[in-house]
Amino acid sequence: MTKCPFCKGELSKKTVTHPQVYRGKVYILENIPAEVCSQCGEVLLRPGVLEKIQQLIWSHTQPKRTAEVPVYDLAEIN
Ligand SMILES: [Zn+2]
Repeated sequence: MTKCPFCKGELSKKTVTHPQVYRGKVYILENIPAEVCSQCGEVLLRPGVLEKIQQLIWSHTQPKRTAEVPVYDLAEIN
């Protein structure tokens, strides 16, 4: 059993949804295998998963579906 590299908490295997920004576009990736820290909530992607994500985005693979993403600009909030 591996421990969280930040707080040494317990990691549990989960699938997560992860937003990835590439060239100003947001890509949402679902069901990513990851380890999530039960203590601080840190999400650690399994080895090789990030490469798989990049491959998917770079190869312009047809996505399962597309979604509208709300965008907020904090420079406009006083
Ligand atoms: Zn942690």
